[in-house]
Amino acid sequence: MEKIQFKTESRRLLDLMINSVYTNREIFLRELISNASDAIDKLYFISLTDQHVGLTREDFAIRIEVDKTARTITISDNGIGMNAEELESNLGTIANSGSLAFMQENEENLEDIDIIGQFGVGFYSAFMVSKRVDVITRAYGSEEAWHWESEGLDGYVINSSGRAVPGTDIILTLKDNSDTDNYDQFLEEYTIRRIVKKYSDYIRYPIKMEVEKRRPAEGQEGEFETYRETETLNSMIPIWRKNKSELSEEDYNYFYKEKFYDFENPLRVIHSKTEGKATYNALLFIPARIPYNYYSKEYEKGLQLYSNGVLIMEKCPDLLPDYFSFVRGLVDSQDLSLNISREMLQHDRQLKLIAGNLEKKIKSELLDMLNNQRETYEKFYKSFGLQLKWSIYKEFGLNRELLLPLIMFYSSKAQQLVTLEEYHQGMLPEQKYIYYASGETVDRIDRLPQTELLKDKGFEILYLTDDVDEFTLKILHQYEDKEFRSVSSGDLGLEDEADKQAAQAQSQENQPLLDFMQEVLDGKVKSVKLSQRLKSHPVCLSSEGMVSLEMEKILSSRPQDNTVKAERVLEINANHPIFPTLRRLFAEDQERLKLYTDIIYNQAMLIEGLNIEDPVAFSNAMCEIMAGQFS
Ligand code: ADP
Ligand code: MG
Repeated sequence: MEKIQFKTESRRLLDLMINSVYTNREIFLRELISNASDAIDKLYFISLTDQHVGLTREDFAIRIEVDKTARTITISDNGIGMNAEELESNLGTIANSGSLAFMQENEENLEDIDIIGQFGVGFYSAFMVSKRVDVITRAYGSEEAWHWESEGLDGYVINSSGRAVPGTDIILTLKDNSDTDNYDQFLEEYTIRRIVKKYSDYIRYPIKMEVEKRRPAEGQEGEFETYRETETLNSMIPIWRKNKSELSEEDYNYFYKEKFYDFENPLRVIHSKTEGKATYNALLFIPARIPYNYYSKEYEKGLQLYSNGVLIMEKCPDLLPDYFSFVRGLVDSQDLSLNISREMLQHDRQLKLIAGNLEKKIKSELLDMLNNQRETYEKFYKSFGLQLKWSIYKEFGLNRELLLPLIMFYSSKAQQLVTLEEYHQGMLPEQKYIYYASGETVDRIDRLPQTELLKDKGFEILYLTDDVDEFTLKILHQYEDKEFRSVSSGDLGLEDEADKQAAQAQSQENQPLLDFMQEVLDGKVKSVKLSQRLKSHPVCLSSEGMVSLEMEKILSSRPQDNTVKAERVLEINANHPIFPTLRRLFAEDQERLKLYTDIIYNQAMLIEGLNIEDPVAFSNAMCEIMAGQFS
């Protein structure tokens, strides 16, 4: 027969495949196996009502055969096959997908069969690795067989041929190796095994291949002989399609560790089957350990995406929101249109629907963990809490409803992590705000002078140790009816009217002293005040306005933000023994008061964990005082 040209679109696609720079060439095998599986599905479907097929479920199989000398791989199936017309239209055009047409014809019985390919492009992927493709096929119900052959762009030839039974053989002659590409690898047993395992493990028909094995030679001690044996390469039933009742915790853990290369068991397994608007199986895992690159740009979120047991995407990012990016797992759906293109997937409505469901599911599982397995949740939170808090901040609190119940902070009272709800419930009737203090470690925060009075009054304080914490609370602004308030902020809402008046009187009386000290500090602080929050400590720094001292520290470590400064207030404890000294010096020795003011300010800086401007001068000043005192 003469050579037939491919239809224009096919030519275009073929050209793409042949010259593909696509690194994932190995998927050709997945596509051909999926086609074989589709073809078997079709014949199996017919066999349910047609005695003449003469095959039972167990008889169906896909076979792979390798000839290293000829450099060919043959993929055979005993499925429905193709007649000459079908060969022409299925392999010569892309627009007409045979599978799609079949599906449309059998619309009413579709629950009984699953069709994998729906787009009509998979077959051409064979040309990514082959310089020549031969197809020998015989349609069910026909006596004739046909041979389709093509070396790519210049078209194909169809001739009559022979085949004993219905089915199809696809024979790939691999491209020659080049400096950059090694096609011989696809002739290796272990490569084929690996590819089948990776993409087609859950194809429901056995994928058989004759493999080489070794056994002790009979009668010859210590000797081995090789022999050949046909092996089924795929496990056929995906764990996620099984019922939960059939599976043990062990099964899940083993699967997780094997598949996602973790050595620790997951903290939680979420296995769900959903039917309705979107029909899918999902098997998700919440890891115990932070992946080494999790908090870096290299980390890619995503779930594996299967269409009817066939892996179509290794990491589908659209299935997970950023705040749950730590979740590992997979989704298998029959509703998804199978296509290699990411762009198309992104716009898939089914995918969006599934992603929405998963998000709700993950949240409810985390809440369940929080409520019923507190220790496990805290372990989870220590790994991934940062991501939750960071997401609230990054998305300007858009997802607060969803994430608020899940976040926790260390509490001064409970001495462990508490949720905002728990904090809120434990608030005292007279407590106006939700208090927090920031610092590097819980220990350091606990010793901050600013926390003393609040603790004394029995108020709980949240200790914030992650950089993002205070920014997150700033975005949230309040929880329920209560605002968040830093222990260093100007107004803690503590004093009643009588206190206020007494404080005002005391301040007024000492105003000249305070003004003097502020002048000495020469712009380093916005004001010097008598403190309402100190009990036993002499001094502390607080801040007015939006930016706290802690935030200033974090921002100043980033070059683009290092001009942002907190408005500092130096607070002095009027009940501390140093205060009468300051008053005396104001009257008697203002030079010495200048020195003391500097020292007090630097001490307050050190307590806050801030760097002082001139450590040498500070140290000299201290020594000067010591020398004066002890001489
Ligand atoms: P898709 O599988 O998405 O329809 P392909 O390019 O993979 O697209 O295959 C095109 C068509 O060729 C299939 O729809 C099917 O009708 C036919 N076909 C391919 N491989 C086989 C096979 N092994 N047996 C029978 N028909 C096949
Ligand atoms: Mg296909």
